[in-house]
Amino acid sequence: MRASLKTLAQDTGMTYDQKRMSVFGYYQGYQMIIRNVQNRRVFEIRFHVNGGTPEQAKAVQDYFAGLSQSNPAVKSAVFDGVGASIQVKSNGKNSVEALKEILNSVLSVCRSYSMVSCCKYCGAQTNLGVYSLGGECTSMCGGCFEKAQSDLSAARQSLKEQKSNIAGGTVGALLGSLIGVALWVIVYQLGYIAGIVGFVMAVCCMKGYEKFGGKLNAAGMVISLLIAVAMLYFAENVSLALEIYNEFKMDYDITFFDAFRSIPEFMKDDSVSRSVLSDLAMGYLLMLVASVSSIRATYQNANLKHEMKKLS
Ligand SMILES: [Zn+2]
Repeated sequence: MRASLKTLAQDTGMTYDQKRMSVFGYYQGYQMIIRNVQNRRVFEIRFHVNGGTPEQAKAVQDYFAGLSQSNPAVKSAVFDGVGASIQVKSNGKNSVEALKEILNSVLSVCRSYSMVSCCKYCGAQTNLGVYSLGGECTSMCGGCFEKAQSDLSAARQSLKEQKSNIAGGTVGALLGSLIGVALWVIVYQLGYIAGIVGFVMAVCCMKGYEKFGGKLNAAGMVISLLIAVAMLYFAENVSLALEIYNEFKMDYDITFFDAFRSIPEFMKDDSVSRSVLSDLAMGYLLMLVASVSSIRATYQNANLKHEMKKLS
């Protein structure tokens, strides 16, 4: 995929961007972005045009609609009146030729219907550039980029000013944890290993905190996870008590609470304590997985630490 993009850039005079797995620049007077769709053997050609009459735009749209039938290398092609996106299957060494052939025919159709490159957002035909937004190449005009930049810094500012309400958040995390407890008990009763619920439990607590306490900051994350850890232990005990209760209620006159109180007695039995410990270990392990992925996503999204810069 990488070699194909590099060759395509050399052949067409466009710029190859290894970091973003993209090729961009002007080709035959049109500003293009060609990228490798992440984790897939597919290229995407993207550009924005306007300028023709509504009938001409319709004609381009019809051409796009038939493109995947007329060209077997095309996986899908869409033109919404301004934005064009063509997905091209990669077929190794022939990819570059296929891409060039598609580019040439698509652009000649656009030209014949008086279409001109334009800004994705406002339709301006001048001052176009290619920018990296969050690590992805996007084409737009200088004015729209400035607006995007100031929107981002305003969003960053309001996020910074947003207070986290610890009391509300704690209540939210506790409410969220109840969903996790209920799920744990249900899955346990059904006879499955409830470990995956550990993941759900951590997510429920963090979502609950966010809903009732505003921003999920570091303190909120710690509180949510402490609640999740404690409630998972509680859920395991409730499950165990239910099992004891169901086992003995026929022969002895006991309540659920008697069963709950008798747990320490049962834990003296090796096989019981071993299975409880393995349930908990699995639950806590998956809880850890949920926390790590959530912390990473929070860092990347909530803090809006997105790259934003001009590439060409
Ligand atoms: Zn614009």
